[in-house]
Amino acid sequence: MSDCIFCRIADGEIPTDFVYRDDEVAAFRDVNPQAPTHILVIPRQHIASSAHAEDPSVWGMLIGRAVKIAKELGLDEKGYRMVINTGEQGGQTVPHLHLHLLAGRNLGWPPG
Ligand code: 5GP
Ligand code: ZN
Repeated sequence: MSDCIFCRIADGEIPTDFVYRDDEVAAFRDVNPQAPTHILVIPRQHIASSAHAEDPSVWGMLIGRAVKIAKELGLDEKGYRMVINTGEQGGQTVPHLHLHLLAGRNLGWPPG
């Protein structure tokens, strides 16, 4: 989808700080980080949100890669949080499925 910002990022059309990229997944640093480490992990295929991802293989791909990236960056030592905002009340602002990988500070609970 050429009008989707995350599709354009995944395809390398927009200069982006990638931490990982393969045929299925891209991961890059959030432009407005909410923690010392804030990475977005996305499927390269356009999927609008988690509500459009009933196929369990999507989750194996996305979460599996997020775990791998977290381990490679050493985030598993102190811990991290994965967040997937979905829809308006879920706080989703970009309509392309993405997993937030947050680390580097104590993260509050309950979330805002
Ligand atoms: P959401 O609010 O949809 O869960 O998360 C979207 C995230 O994408 C936000 O944290 C926002 O800062 C980030 N974001 C939006 N546009 C861009 C961009 O062009 N580049 C990068 N790296 N992050 C973006
Ligand atoms: Zn997209």
